[in-house]
Amino acid sequence: MQLTYKFRLRDTCDSELTRQARAVNFVWNYCNETQQKAVNRKRKWLTWHDLQKLTAGSSKELDIHAHTIQQVCQVYDRSRTAKKKAWLRWRVSNPKSPKCSLGWVPFNKGHVALRNGAFVFRGKAYRAWVSRELKEGQTFGAGSFSQDSRGHWYINLPVEVPSLASAGSDPIGIDLGLKDLATISTGEKIAHPRWYRKMASRIAAAQRAKKKNQVRQLHAKVKAQRNDHLHKVSTRLVQSHGAIFVGNVNASGLAKTSMAKSVLDAGWSAFRNQLEYKAIRHRVVFREVNEAYSTQTCSQCASIEGPKGVAGLGIRQWWCSCGVEHDRDTNAAKNIARRGLASLEVGASA
Ligand SMILES: [Zn+2]
Repeated sequence: MQLTYKFRLRDTCDSELTRQARAVNFVWNYCNETQQKAVNRKRKWLTWHDLQKLTAGSSKELDIHAHTIQQVCQVYDRSRTAKKKAWLRWRVSNPKSPKCSLGWVPFNKGHVALRNGAFVFRGKAYRAWVSRELKEGQTFGAGSFSQDSRGHWYINLPVEVPSLASAGSDPIGIDLGLKDLATISTGEKIAHPRWYRKMASRIAAAQRAKKKNQVRQLHAKVKAQRNDHLHKVSTRLVQSHGAIFVGNVNASGLAKTSMAKSVLDAGWSAFRNQLEYKAIRHRVVFREVNEAYSTQTCSQCASIEGPKGVAGLGIRQWWCSCGVEHDRDTNAAKNIARRGLASLEVGASA
């Protein structure tokens, strides 16, 4: 299977990449402009083949790889289809503009190689913090250089890795929540890291004070710490279970402030993403399950008597009339596991 490895480049403000990113923006905006004109004049929409024909030969003048231009055309076409829009947002190169796009330079298969511990692209070596085992001389699939909101550059490399079988077979359900990050149907609870709430309130304070740089720094910090925490948990879960079902919760309506909402949302979706790709690698079943009523339904007798939504958030324990005492979140996780298993059965018979 293929995974995308991401490495941070040591050279934080690489001028050559910044220059290439500007040229990429130029190509993107050219595609956008051409497409916009075609729509306004009621002409045929442009496919990536059309866009490639129109941009062919500009690589020398722009001083970027011809395949980089082709990749931009393809990505442009793909995202226009995915977003179901006639044209897309412009890519802005001016770093002083608040709308400035994060740098992005795609490259094609076989054009980046690992030499002397650095990634070589178009004759230039990019040194990186390589934390995983890659072989000297190895070449990579079509990937990209990309920038984060702090301006740091990364290289994203698709790498073929062997798939591993999971040792476990027990299916589990996972309830993502406000109080704990996740509750497993086995009764285990995975807490939000201690800094989580503190950081959310610091971000909110910085945002109120309009300290944009600080907001950016804090977000990046939350992201790094959170991913480290989540990686450990998600790896352990896929290694010890045969099927994983996760509720499709999102933070709107649950979190009180928009900041808490964005921090929670990001954590939940990062966790779900990790579980999903690790599950594929370990040949574990993974599904997102509709979690409506999972809190209110008794996982023992299926009657709907449990605590309701935001109003019932304070109720952590409850008795069902069938005589079973439930932990609120464990019960929800059990319902998610049951629904997930039921969806597999439906899928198998269809
Ligand atoms: Zn019951």
